[in-house]
Amino acid sequence: MKYYAKPLNKLINELARLPGIGERTAQRLALHILSLNDKEAFALSDAIREAKETMKYCSVCGNLTDTDPCAICADTSRDSSTICVVESPKDVLAMEKIREYRGYYHVLHGVISPMDQKGPEDINLKSLITRLQNPEVKELIIATNPTIEGEATAVYIARLIKPSGIKVSRIAHGIPVGGDLEYADEVTLLKAIEGRREL
Ligand SMILES: [Zn+2]
Repeated sequence: MKYYAKPLNKLINELARLPGIGERTAQRLALHILSLNDKEAFALSDAIREAKETMKYCSVCGNLTDTDPCAICADTSRDSSTICVVESPKDVLAMEKIREYRGYYHVLHGVISPMDQKGPEDINLKSLITRLQNPEVKELIIATNPTIEGEATAVYIARLIKPSGIKVSRIAHGIPVGGDLEYADEVTLLKAIEGRREL
C-alpha cells in the first residue's frame, strides 16, 4: 500500500476495517469511489453520516431505529401477547421478511458468553424484565442463534422468566447448529417458529 498517496491509503485502511472486506477489495472499492463524480461519492459519505447521526436504539425493544419507540413498537396492530427475543437488529429484519410473525421483539445486543467475559448484565436483559410486567404478554419466543452461547442464553432467560408464569418457548432447530438466523432461508425460519417448543 506504500504506492498510494496518503489520502487514498487512509480510505483503503478505513474500508479494510469493515467486516468481510479484505485489503484487495478495499483497494478496489477505494479506486472505484475515486472514479465516481463528486455527487456520487459524497452521497456515500453523507449516507454514513446521516445514518450514524439519526439512528439510535429503541428504548423499548433495543432495535435500531430513527424514531423512539421504533416503528414496530409503535404499531398497535401487532400482537401484544408475544415477544420474540433475538440477538441483534439484523435478526429482526430476518424475522420481518417472512411476514408471519406479528408480535413484538426484544433485541439483546449479544449473548451471554463467559469466554468473552459477557454476563447477563452485559446484554439488554433488564428492560425485557420490565416489559414482561405488562399482563398482556403471554409468551416469550427465544430466537437466539443455535450456537453454544445462544443456547446458554436461552436457558438462562427461560429460568429467569419461568417463575412469572409466562410461557417461554425456543425456536426449533431447522436452523443448523452454529448457523445464523440472518442466513436462514424464509421457509426454514418459518418452520423454526412454528415448531418452537416450550422451555
Ligand atoms: Zn422498538
